[in-house]
Amino acid sequence: MSRILVVEDEAHLAEGLQYNLEAEGHVVEIAVDGPSAATRLADPERPLDLVILDLMLPGMSGFEVARRARAAGNYVPILVVSAKDEAADVVRGLEEGGDDYLTKPFRLEELLARVRGLLRRRRWDRVPREDESPRSVTFGRVAVHFDRFELETPSGTLRLTTREAGLLRALVEREGQAVTRGELLEDVWGLRADTNTRVVDSFIVRLRRYVEEDPARPRHILSVRGHGYRFVS
Ligand code: CA
Repeated sequence: MSRILVVEDEAHLAEGLQYNLEAEGHVVEIAVDGPSAATRLADPERPLDLVILDLMLPGMSGFEVARRARAAGNYVPILVVSAKDEAADVVRGLEEGGDDYLTKPFRLEELLARVRGLLRRRRWDRVPREDESPRSVTFGRVAVHFDRFELETPSGTLRLTTREAGLLRALVEREGQAVTRGELLEDVWGLRADTNTRVVDSFIVRLRRYVEEDPARPRHILSVRGHGYRFVS
């Protein structure tokens, strides 16, 4: 059983999601505007397992809701669901802290599959992986602890989001090899390889900011022209 917050101002849509998520055994809360969603997310007494977040909301945009949650150190998985299907909005939704993105109108099965994926990943992330994947790696000036989702840098410890950690792990596991954006989209986001490769680029920019001494001249997360990215420790 997971506790899910549905942030959606269209009542029929919110109720439909609640009904279907409850049918899957979850406890569902609804927030109908930005400020009440932000307030609920800031409540440390009642942690959530997942947030389904609309972007166009009364009072405060979903972008702002996500940004505030992340700034406050709340790393609950966020599935952004919005009619804004322009590439820039997809990228921004993910930059502000969304872990996954679904464009309205969506198929219910697709949404439930994404929800399952994010919840499953969250459970995996709580237990040490039993395969040969490294739990921690050190390179340059940072140490990454995949099991704890933490990045130790000279300026302090940083919490990684699910996708940030997943992307870094996907690159580290293939150290030295060039990995295409499409492979990373499939591997980390579970999206089709042709979805929107800018999402990957935008996350790479973030990771470089965290791990590189000079993000403009990366030494660990390298671009491979016309192909994708390559990690070197
Ligand atoms: Ca809306």
